[in-house]
Amino acid sequence: MDDCIFCKIIKKEIPSEIVYEDEQVIAFKDIHPVAPVHVLIIPKKHISAVTEIKEDDEAVIGKIYSVINTIAEKMGIKENGFRVIVNCGKDGGQEVKHLHFHLIGGKELGTKIVH
Ligand code: 5GP
Ligand code: ZN
Repeated sequence: MDDCIFCKIIKKEIPSEIVYEDEQVIAFKDIHPVAPVHVLIIPKKHISAVTEIKEDDEAVIGKIYSVINTIAEKMGIKENGFRVIVNCGKDGGQEVKHLHFHLIGGKELGTKIVH
């Protein structure tokens, strides 16, 4: 998608701190981190939100979780744990309309998802 900021990151038209990349998936540091580790993991295919995931996308969504594992290990947060968040739509607070998984960790995040 031409006007999608994350598609521009995929095409390297916008700089980002990439921590992982393969044919289907790319991961880069969030520009406004909320914790010592805050990485966004995205499919290279433009899927706008969780609500747009189709059967054909099941493999890449599964792959994203294995990539999350790899990155968590690389960033040294696998043992202590972390949180994975996917915001969807207006009520979910989704700002960027390209499916992304927030990997957040490196400190105690508490037990509540919503404060
Ligand atoms: P959302 O609220 O849509 O779930 O999260 C979007 C996330 O993307 C935010 O945490 C925001 O800081 C991050 N973000 C927005 N624009 C950019 C950008 O240009 N580069 C990077 N690295 N992160 C971005
Ligand atoms: Zn996109």
